Amino acid sequence: MTTFRTIPASKHIALVAHDNRKDELLEWAVVNKEALSMHHLYATGTTGKLLEGHLGQPIKKLLSGPLGGDQQLGAMIAEKKIDVVIFFWDPLSAQPHDPDIKALLRLCVVWNIPLACDSATADFLFTSPLMSGEYLSRQSDFTEYLSRKL
Ligand code: PGA
Repeated sequence: MTTFRTIPASKHIALVAHDNRKDELLEWAVVNKEALSMHHLYATGTTGKLLEGHLGQPIKKLLSGPLGGDQQLGAMIAEKKIDVVIFFWDPLSAQPHDPDIKALLRLCVVWNIPLACDSATADFLFTSPLMSGEYLSRQSDFTEYLSRKL
């Protein structure tokens, strides 16, 4: 049985960028400042500090990614506290917290979270009418998995 989760018009949005892509995310966020101001923002530590200086809106800062921030975000996704993720990860450098990055990306798919990993996808997301309205997000049915015989 498919269930739905109502994502409110004012969304809880997580923003994360690896060091080599922080400039790109900052640039994108400044261009989309007005649209972002309609939502509640969360970010990993360093990304959040940089964004706050440019956006002038409060951002709930978690730990820095390599120190557990990605895992904190993953937990928030599983607890249905995050609705959208903008994650500019670096495809050209190895990261010390690679398992945490994979876990975060995986949980976005498990919970059907809109996920943008580049500015083009983020632009498509933010120009969607669904960003400014309520949205019924289809949730996989985990009943069978949860009631499996062990
Ligand atoms: P940071 O973390 O915002 O603290 O740099 C980002 C990440 O590496 O996940």
